[in-house]
Amino acid sequence: MHAESLKLAAQWEQELGDPRQSDALLCFADTLREDEAEVFPQTSLEQLRRLGLFDQLVPSRLGGQLQEPERILTLSRILSRRDLSTVIAFGQTLLGSLPIWLAGSPAQQAAHARSLRAGGLACLALTERAHGSDILSTEFRVEAEADGQHLRIQGEKWLINNGSRGASATVLACQHHADGRKELVLLRLSRPEPDADPSWHSLPKNATHGIRGADISGFALQDHRCLAADVSLPRQEPALNLVLKTLQISRILCAGFSLGATDTLLRLTLEFASQRQLYGKTVTQIPAARAKLAHSYARLLCNDLLAQACTRAIARLPAELSVLSPICKYQLPVSCEAVARELAQVLGARHYLRSQDALGMFQKMARDLQVVSLFDGSTQVNLGLLAAQLRQLQPTLLQCWQEGSSAREALLEDARALLRSEAAACDWPDSKDLRLSSQGQDRLMQAYLVWRREPGACEGAVSEEGAVASALHALDQRLQQCLSEIEQHFWVQRLPVDSCAAQQLAVDYARLWSACALALAWSFAQESSSTVAAPQLDSDLLLEGLRQTLPDLRIPACEARDQRLLEAALSCVKQRRLFSLSPLPAAW
Ligand SMILES: Cc1cc2nc3c(=O)[nH]c(=O)nc-3n(C[C@H](O)[C@H](O)[C@H](O)COP(=O)(O)OP(=O)(O)OC[C@H]3O[C@@H](n4cnc5c(N)ncnc54)[C@H](O)[C@@H]3O)c2cc1C
Repeated sequence: MHAESLKLAAQWEQELGDPRQSDALLCFADTLREDEAEVFPQTSLEQLRRLGLFDQLVPSRLGGQLQEPERILTLSRILSRRDLSTVIAFGQTLLGSLPIWLAGSPAQQAAHARSLRAGGLACLALTERAHGSDILSTEFRVEAEADGQHLRIQGEKWLINNGSRGASATVLACQHHADGRKELVLLRLSRPEPDADPSWHSLPKNATHGIRGADISGFALQDHRCLAADVSLPRQEPALNLVLKTLQISRILCAGFSLGATDTLLRLTLEFASQRQLYGKTVTQIPAARAKLAHSYARLLCNDLLAQACTRAIARLPAELSVLSPICKYQLPVSCEAVARELAQVLGARHYLRSQDALGMFQKMARDLQVVSLFDGSTQVNLGLLAAQLRQLQPTLLQCWQEGSSAREALLEDARALLRSEAAACDWPDSKDLRLSSQGQDRLMQAYLVWRREPGACEGAVSEEGAVASALHALDQRLQQCLSEIEQHFWVQRLPVDSCAAQQLAVDYARLWSACALALAWSFAQESSSTVAAPQLDSDLLLEGLRQTLPDLRIPACEARDQRLLEAALSCVKQRRLFSLSPLPAAW
């Protein structure tokens, strides 16, 4: 991450303070109380506004500070360590803003920037009660009036985060033209003051399993009238494309929610396990508990790497986000949920208690965390998106493995820019930089293959001996197997992309991608000793990460490795650092 972003991250942590203390902003006690009472986190959002954090959501050309995608990821992560209800309302504001930043008119962008900088929330309203993920069936109806200037709108959007509190809503609608044509369009609607306009009706909040204070509601419009120039986003490209491009970015940034919440789950559990005495020793000395803690730590760092790589790709490889964003959105929330389940076992009975002390946060975070795999395209939807691209990806990858690539050095340089802990990637892409398909390109996977064809040709290459060499060999074989299964499935048998086998291949590919990224990052970490004050990507982390990401590699578990990983995790807690490969200080 850029030095300026690292500095800001440290400052935010400091300003937000130790959430276990009652005088901290976003303190656990208030958060738990609000959750029990299902109160919207308005006070916390007001604190974020006072800290100037809404400016981070607004592009610099509009007076804000939205600069480096990884900075947003880190901000989301820092807030998610404290309260997902707050950050999901805040993050939804960015989601509702992305289409405006990508394609809004100058006047719409200026109005939206003003609203956000005043602390106004936004939302992206795609879902309708009758259609769920099937957004092509959108019914929310728009018609132009005879004067050609006004629109008349009716319909309902349901299950919308910030649905009744957002100052604005970015809405996917279906325009019915006079000639009978129907067209999906995007609108930026300003919500009128409550009760000021009978044509706008806010739906009641839905009670939810987690993020209980969140405003998961919606709105229904009846003959709502507005000026087309104010609300219709310019149609330089189909609205559906713009929605898909928006989601390519937001699905990656969702990683911040999962990483932050899992950081708190691990920290709480480590503190408990290192203090809790049983049978004359601490819980950390019980081998099964120690293993779960060590594995959770390793998995969290691997997820951190995945999130960093995909977030940097927003700036560095925007044309490949159609592949990377479903990988990240599938892999990361699912993996963090698995970590939460492991940690719950270590915490024992206390994970089940809705106590009002800091440990009571465990059950809230574990509940809240589960929402991430649901929204912004569910796990199944993301696997479907990835499955649909495997056919095109396979020939390029096979060629890289069999023949190498004349772009070898460029591929490895791109991979370094995504994976080195010191790397930084600052720009936000324009809509034209984003593509609905990567046209068969997955440069990181290609980089892995050209590296493995000639590992010795890498700068600073190290000899891979013993466990690492055999793990990487097993990974190579697993990848070859996956590529031949893709060929068989999509090229030979020509089976449909929504078949169960295709979904399984998407799962395999997503896991392999994470594993290959980890292996490449490990090799880059060997090239020069890192000066970054953060956990190192050493062979312990590599082996444990590969073991968990791809159990079928059959990498043996190792108690000595678990012990070293546990010590590294405890040292993060002691030195007050986030569980991250980036040097991120933690106020707690
Ligand atoms: C807390 C919360 C906040 C939300 N916030 C918003 C928001 O701000 N804006 C918004 O627009 N929506 C929001 N949603 C809605 C969310 O995005 C929906 O859950 C989503 O649209 C999917 O709808 P569904 O879960 O009802 O499932 P459906 O789409 O009805 O799917 C039913 C079943 O079909 C499967 N399925 C659907 N499509 C596929 C596919 N392509 N491949 C394989 N299986 C498939 C699903 O996995 C599921 O098993 C939110 C939901 C929640 C719970």
